[in-house]
Amino acid sequence: MRIDVVSIFPEYLAPLDLSLIGKARRDGLLDVRVHQLRDFTHDRHQTVDDTPYGGGAGMVMKPQPWAEALDAVVASGDAGARPRVIVPGPGGMPFTQALARELAEEPWLAFACGRYEGIDERVYGYAADDLGLRVDVVSLGDYVLNGGEVAVLAITEAVARLLPGVIGNAESLVEESHEDGLLEYPVFTKPASWTSPTGTTRDVPPVLLSGDHGAIARWRHQQRLERTAARRPDLLHSSQAADGELAAYDL
Ligand code: SAM
Repeated sequence: MRIDVVSIFPEYLAPLDLSLIGKARRDGLLDVRVHQLRDFTHDRHQTVDDTPYGGGAGMVMKPQPWAEALDAVVASGDAGARPRVIVPGPGGMPFTQALARELAEEPWLAFACGRYEGIDERVYGYAADDLGLRVDVVSLGDYVLNGGEVAVLAITEAVARLLPGVIGNAESLVEESHEDGLLEYPVFTKPASWTSPTGTTRDVPPVLLSGDHGAIARWRHQQRLERTAARRPDLLHSSQAADGELAAYDL
């Protein structure tokens, strides 16, 4: 998969060199190219923002550098190839595991990182109508960040780990939170009995030491239901939990 990122803070994307994503890049599974938006300006100060029409606080990103940056990204691809453009924004569709799976099927993504009050709206029209790109605004959550870079890190990590070969144990992907609508069960490692620095001893649930795989699977499923009901009851109805199971939670 190829990923292009346009930002006024390319250094923000440095973590994409680390850990499994960095290894995926070195292994040739992921081709990440980060571009400085200011390289597409033509004035001495490399200006990318200006005051908003209609008044109001803050600055708006100018259309011209964005149009040239998108032109350059498209031109750098194979003839006829088009990236799917993702613009991070608090007013976008929520980023979910389902959307991560969808994006993982794309051969090429291009992220446009807004700053200030966002990007001049005409850039969306240019990308969609003039360049023929699919453009989606995607939100990390119902809160406001300073820029799109943190969202790009999160989205890229969630998408890239789904690409074949990026995660060593592909089975671990299937069992995770949000894959079937339920949160993951609690996990434990050695020792079976652990005494904390304050002197309290806590034991691993005995069923996990029983060797009874059926009982372990039932316990884990029950834990997932209880955890989802407690933390994210909104997820339960659209999850793969059976109707009879939901009745126990009075939902
Ligand atoms: N004025 C904008 C609004 O109310 O929708 C917020 C602009 S925000 C200060 C600057 C940039 O941060 C946005 O253009 C976007 O790139 C990014 N951003 C902020 N919150 C985000 C979120 N929840 N998800 C994704 N990106 C976000």
